[in-house]
Amino acid sequence: MTKTNIHKEVVIIGSGPAGLTAAIYSGRANLQPLVIEGPQPGGQLMITTDVENYPGFAKGIMGPALMQEFRDQAARFGTEFLSAWVNRVDLSKRPFTLETDEQIIQADSLIIASGAAAKWLGIPGEAPVPQGLGGAGVSACATCDGFFFRGKPLVVVGGGDTAMEEATFLTKFATKVTVIHRRDSLRASKIMQDKAFRNDKIEFIWDTAVEEILGTAETGVTGVRIKNLKTGAESIFPCEGVFIAIGHQPNTAVFKDWLDMDEIGYIKTDRRTTATNIPGVFACGDAQDAYYRQAITAAGTGCMASIDAERFLDANPIEAPQTREASVEV
Ligand code: NDP
Repeated sequence: MTKTNIHKEVVIIGSGPAGLTAAIYSGRANLQPLVIEGPQPGGQLMITTDVENYPGFAKGIMGPALMQEFRDQAARFGTEFLSAWVNRVDLSKRPFTLETDEQIIQADSLIIASGAAAKWLGIPGEAPVPQGLGGAGVSACATCDGFFFRGKPLVVVGGGDTAMEEATFLTKFATKVTVIHRRDSLRASKIMQDKAFRNDKIEFIWDTAVEEILGTAETGVTGVRIKNLKTGAESIFPCEGVFIAIGHQPNTAVFKDWLDMDEIGYIKTDRRTTATNIPGVFACGDAQDAYYRQAITAAGTGCMASIDAERFLDANPIEAPQTREASVEV
């Protein structure tokens, strides 16, 4: 199969706040970065409604609108975009090699901004149709799917900010939202907890695990089988939709043979910079941040990664001539 060969000084994997901020800075440094956008261009903010905590937007801004601004700004400074999925990487030597279905991309420096994705419980009934009820009543994105649950009783699983945000948002559509949490106190921030506690449509079931999602592709979700973790008592709780909101998994699997990571898969970076264990490879945003995970901190580390890459390239030029685009047989 013929693959297109591309060679760039800076390649950025990911197009959320981290990746696009890295692109804006690299573009302005005249490095003509390539952004590989991946399957969810714009990242997690594309499935968010109002973003009220991004500085500079006093009245708030919708997530997709904010990401369009980021993208336009990156494009204005010469960023190229490629919609592709990186299947394989070779970081053994520079230029680094990235392989997609249709391209072989060589990168003098690499910025990983591949973000994180929603985690699932791994219980029966949760997988996508036809194996389970995913897409037929089970979702991990209230903003995307809430509208389909108008007038229905819903369950949200989790006790963090995401769960509170999803539960609160879903009350716009649902008759009732029941948050099922495995402990007797929430992890969510005080302000998000208070908002959920004040909402008449939100109820809580504490110390409880969801063990199975019940229903068929024809009926949709009819309920969940739950277990009280203190008493061991099992029961069926009726509902017509289930939203899983238990956190996120960094999208870093393709780098696992190369980069130092923690046990979950967050890439380890130098304490003060975005440097990874491989010189010339930098990581920013949620792919390396299990702690702050905010759009503004992701954007901040994207800026850092670009500056780190620029300084690295200055200090470590590659002498070989650069082919900007050619076709090769693989
Ligand atoms: P968190 O990791 O903060 O919370 C995950 C929740 O899911 C916890 O309550 C956890 O329980 C529960 N959980 C995890 N695994 C399981 C499991 N296998 N079974 C049952 N329950 C499980 O993730 P979030 O996505 O909520 O938040 C991530 C970050 O994003 C946070 O820093 C948060 O502040 C931020 N955020 C901010 C928002 C905002 O400011 N508007 C909105 C959404 C997120 P336990 O508590 O027992 O560990």
